[in-house]
Order: sequence, then C-alpha cells, then structure tokens
Amino acid sequence: MSSDQSSGSNRKEVRKGTVVIKQGEPGDCAYIIEKGQVEISLTKPNGNVEVIGTRGPGTMIGEMALIDKGPRTASIRALEDCEFLTITESDFERRIDGADPIIRMMTQVVLARYRDAMQRFGLFVKPSSQQEIEDQELIFSKANTEMEKLKLMEELRDGLKSGDVFLHYQPIVDTQSGQVAGFEALMRWNHFERGFIYPSLFIPVAEETGAIYELSKWALEESAHMLARLEKELGDHGKLFVSVNFASSDFMEPDFVSMTTSIISEAGLQPHQLHVEITERTLIGEPERAQDALEVLKDAGVHISLDDFGTGYSSLSYLRHFKIDTLKIDRSFVSDMFADESAMALIKSIIALAKNMKMVIIAEGAETAEEAMMLRDLGCEMVQGYYYARPMPEDELLAAAQKHYI
Ligand code: C2E
Ligand code: CA
Ligand code: CA
Repeated sequence: MSSDQSSGSNRKEVRKGTVVIKQGEPGDCAYIIEKGQVEISLTKPNGNVEVIGTRGPGTMIGEMALIDKGPRTASIRALEDCEFLTITESDFERRIDGADPIIRMMTQVVLARYRDAMQRFGLFVKPSSQQEIEDQELIFSKANTEMEKLKLMEELRDGLKSGDVFLHYQPIVDTQSGQVAGFEALMRWNHFERGFIYPSLFIPVAEETGAIYELSKWALEESAHMLARLEKELGDHGKLFVSVNFASSDFMEPDFVSMTTSIISEAGLQPHQLHVEITERTLIGEPERAQDALEVLKDAGVHISLDDFGTGYSSLSYLRHFKIDTLKIDRSFVSDMFADESAMALIKSIIALAKNMKMVIIAEGAETAEEAMMLRDLGCEMVQGYYYARPMPEDELLAAAQKHYI
C-alpha cells in the first residue's frame, strides 16, 4: 500500500476473490478502481443472490456510504487482482465542505432519491439499527428542505423578472425639521401561490443559497433609479438619500465596490446619497475584507450605516476600525423604552456614544408620538417608524417627500 499525499487518499491492492464490500455492513470509504475487475452482487430480501454488474478501471464503488454513512447496499468481489484508490470519509468531507453549495446539495438529493427508489423496489437492505434509520430520515428531511430552498430561490429569480419581487421605501424623518431626509429600501415578494412572503423569511434563505448578491445588486439599482426619478419630480438634487440593505457575503464579491460606485454614477446620484446598511455580523465575520471594501466606498463618499445596532455582538472595538457614519438603534430598544428602564438607558448610552464618535443616530421602529418625541428630545437626529410612515410603493414617495411631519 502506498499513500498519495496530495489527494489525501491511499492505494490498496486486493487479491482475486477478495470480498471488498459486504452488503449490510457499515461503510466508511469508497474506491476508485485503478486496475482489475470487480463484480457487484445483491442479496435480495428473500435470500436470492443476483449479480447486477461488473466494474473496471476508472469507475467508483462504495461511494454511497461516504455521503450518508448508511450500510453497504451491495457486495463487491474482486474478479482479478485489483488496485484501488481509497477515498476516506474525512477526505470526502474535506472536499465536499469546500464544494459549491449547489453541488453539495445535489449530491445529497441525488443520493436520497436513489435510496428512496431502491427502497421502493425492495432492493434496499434494512438498516440494522435504529440509529441508522434515524440517520436516513434526517438525510431525507434535509434534502427535502434543501430542495424547497432551491425551489424558492428559483421562484425568487422568476419573481425578480416578473415584478413579483419589488421594493417599498420607508421614509426616514429629520426630527428637527420634520422633513423626510431619506428612505430605506425594503424588499417585498408577492409569491404567485403563497401570497406575501416576508423578507425575514426569504433573505436568510437567499444568503444561505448564495442568491443574495443578485438581490442586493438589483435592490441597489432599483433604489438608485427610484431616487433619481424622485429628485427629478421634486426638482431638487443631492439632498435625499436612499438606504439599501446588504448581506455580509456581498462584501466578499470581487466587484462589490465597482458595482456599487458605477450604479450610483449611472443613476446620476452623488455618492453621499447612498447609505450602505450593514449589520454587526458583516464587521465581525470578515473584518479585513469588509474593512477594505468599506474604506474604498467611504473614500468614494458613500455613507455607511450600521443597522440593528446593539442587538448583535457586544464588542464595540470595531467602531474604532470601521468608519461608520450612522448608527441605527434597533426597534426592540425603542418599543421597550417606556416599559423597561434598561432599554431607555441603552438608548441614551448609544446616543452619547454616537455623538462622541461623530456618528449620526437613526432610531428605528417608533410607532407612537410619545416614542418619536422622546427620541427627538434625547438627541436622535432621525427617526424611522410607523408613527411617521410605513414602507410604501414608489408612487407615494413624492407626496411623502413634500410632507411636513410633526
Ligand atoms: P431592517 O433592515 O431592520 O428593516 C426595518 C424593518 O422594520 C422593516 O421590516 C420595516 O418594515 C420594519 N419597521 C419599520 N418601522 C417599524 C415600526 O414602527 N414598527 C414595526 N413593527 N416595524 C417597523 P421588513 O420590511 O419586514 O424587513 C425585515 C428585514 O428584512 C429588514 O430589517 C432587513 O434585515 C431585511 N431586508 C429587507 N429588505 C432587504 C433587502 O433588500 N436586502 C437585505 N439584505 N435585507 C433586507
Ligand atoms: Ca435595515
Ligand atoms: Ca434595522
């Protein structure tokens, strides 16, 4: 036996007649046949043995056990002296971990289907233990939800094309002047079968499946053009901003910065009119990559806004390294501010912190006049919440932008 360090696999030689794999036994590795022939046979539930084929060089045997760790579904015997390349469970896991998520998902789904078909045709060896049954059920349920997620994302892409996915914009009000200072773009999906699906449901799935960047780019482009159209109607340029939500993984995309700056300039906006909304997760997860992207954007004049502030991670050290322009106080603090002293204390501390660091504060989720007025009196420059306005379609924005809020 010699080892092949580069692939993490080993070579194995077996003599003619050796049973390499025994049906029903647990399996933890697969083989690629390099030399020789093997015979695959199946013991049916009634005890009859049936030869179902032979395999020669360049083919793989025993691969299923690597994917779901289930028992061997057939027996394999060497018809000649053979040489195999062994792929161990850990080698496979290492490779699949680095694989594209779609490939990973497909591998699981194809396997689950294959096992399902075998079971239906009565070819499947009964799992020998309860644990094995549970393991298989887990794989099935995983595959199903993974399939559902993939389907959902396909429908989301269709929805982008058909207009079932669209943006609403929520006014953000300057508490001193009572005027709208800008809008936050919030995604909506009117699904053809399921009806309205909330972004808190489909955004995480889009993040998980890698579809998010497409959505982010689309939202940015839409928002930038919306603002350009609105400014034209208002006859006033360069004052309002639009705030667009981004996911952590967006910052990993090589063209993220160039894409962002070119969309702004194509729409004819000034860079400070775009607020890039990120969460603490972005700063914690990929600090260096995010820092580079944010710095370039910031140098280009784009405004950086830290969303859901106070809900995520308690480390504040990143505020020193990232040049954040705006802190958005999370709605949970605002809705508790009169009922819970510590929520009020936190709001006051966040405002003080922001002022010391020359950041602007936006409080989210003010639903009552009391909340809005208190936030203004505490020194919040801007407030966003149902009290002022709910997220609305583009055709209502002109009226909102011309309104005086009290
Ligand atoms: P978020 O970024 O914190 O957005 C604010 C959410 O609070 C929005 O929910 C908004 O409708 C809601 N909201 C604003 N004022 C009030 C209020 O006074 N009371 C209450 N109860 N809610 C208020 P929405 O639109 O359901 O979005 C939920 C989350 O989904 C967003 O939270 C954001 O994390 C994510 N999301 C929405 N659109 C996008 C998008 O285009 N891209 C990304 N990456 N995420 C998005
Ligand atoms: Ca946001
Ligand atoms: Ca928020």
